[in-house]
Amino acid sequence: MPKLSDPNSRRTARKQLWRNHTFCGDSIVPDTIDEANELAEQHLERSLRAARQPIAVGAPGVCDECGDDSPRLVRGRCAPCRDGRPR
Ligand SMILES: [Zn+2]
Repeated sequence: MPKLSDPNSRRTARKQLWRNHTFCGDSIVPDTIDEANELAEQHLERSLRAARQPIAVGAPGVCDECGDDSPRLVRGRCAPCRDGRPR
């Protein structure tokens, strides 16, 4: 995760954001450059928040949902249960 206090990381993140924004379904239709920057800024914050979610630290244990041993549980659930994948 780049440090947000570093202006270079922030610029890079924004560049990637503009390239990738369609992935999260946000539509950015700015009227002005200022508005574009503002939207990009808000979008960046949202994206970074969203990106932090899956990096939750897991712990080994038994899955609450399927009862399997998993090397990495997040909130008590193994990866297949979290993803809804068939086992
Ligand atoms: Zn499970």
